[in-house]
Amino acid sequence: MLNIVLFGPPGAGKGTQSERLIEKYNLVHLSTGDIFRANIKMESELGVLAKSYMDQGLLVPDSVTIEMLRSEVSKKQEALGFIFDGFPRTNAQAAALDEVLLTFKTSITMMAALEVEEEELKRRLLNRATTSGRADDGDISIIENRISVYNKETAPVKMFYQNQKLIFHHHQRYFYSEHFLQKYSPHLLSYFI
Ligand code: AMP
Repeated sequence: MLNIVLFGPPGAGKGTQSERLIEKYNLVHLSTGDIFRANIKMESELGVLAKSYMDQGLLVPDSVTIEMLRSEVSKKQEALGFIFDGFPRTNAQAAALDEVLLTFKTSITMMAALEVEEEELKRRLLNRATTSGRADDGDISIIENRISVYNKETAPVKMFYQNQKLIFHHHQRYFYSEHFLQKYSPHLLSYFI
């Protein structure tokens, strides 16, 4: 299986990168943000809970998020691989993801860390708000909260993958480390815009 974690701050372009990879490699796309938003729309219990955190730009608690992810992965027994978009966002989630994948006798193939400057993130999110209709994209104080939560709670997760030599850094332009060129085909990496 090809299992990719798309990692980066809000507005880094995780969704956009996902689209090309999914199409090319026929992967199952799991965006925890999208799943929460679908639950909010359905007014499910999970949606009501998630909304109270999302509206403030805070992370939904690990216990809830991990359980949801576990259930989504187990529905896709036939998948050729997964793109995890917006998950994991904490070290506990990263460890739980490894455990879940182990039950499929597989593991993370690579983690692509999308790096974008903060001012550019804010500009992109405010711009996206005009079409996404997302309340958390249109309010600068919520955006700043999301970025600060990313820096404090999520950015450290890079070390989890760094320690396993699974990170591929993508800084707006291509940057292929030697390690990645040896380990993965340039063909796979070329699908990152
Ligand atoms: P996103 O669509 O990835 O920008 O996520 C939108 C919001 O959903 C985030 O600001 C969080 O409130 C919540 N969320 C999404 N994924 C996670 C996660 N892995 N852990 C906790 N909260 C999450």
